[in-house]
Amino acid sequence: MITLLDGGMGYELKLRGVKVPDYTKSIWSALALLEDPEAVVDVHLAYIEAGAVAAVDHLEPATHLVNCCGANFVTAALPELRKFTTGPIGGYANAEHVTPDDGDDRVDVDADVSQRKAATYLNPDAYGEEVQRWLDAGAGVVGGCCGTRPKHIRRLREILSAG
Ligand SMILES: [Zn+2]
Repeated sequence: MITLLDGGMGYELKLRGVKVPDYTKSIWSALALLEDPEAVVDVHLAYIEAGAVAAVDHLEPATHLVNCCGANFVTAALPELRKFTTGPIGGYANAEHVTPDDGDDRVDVDADVSQRKAATYLNPDAYGEEVQRWLDAGAGVVGGCCGTRPKHIRRLREILSAG
């Protein structure tokens, strides 16, 4: 039984017109809990309607996940993670592939800017193809992080229901 998590909150709130501060300088989507809690509820409901059965904060403590990185990085990390635990593993990635730079180890590079430049967006189908690789690697928990939307989670639900 694969656990399907929800997807990104801040990005989805922003697309819905909710005030979301700059995540590098402030509290990102947490402000909406104070200023627009109904919108937060609506996004959670959208993910449930899309097929998510759990949010990250409802997992058992022994679960080990890789998150908030390029989906291809989760694919690379899961076999490594498996070496360290026999418990549940999985991931929830950003809706992107990130092409690692070739040995650029300058310390003055803004990692966030650098990653944005190296990222290409994954639509729900492409995200689903990457998550299928996680499932093939033994992931028992999957979901989405930054840039994922209910449509990404809906695609994962389709994949899980078909498999
Ligand atoms: Zn993220």
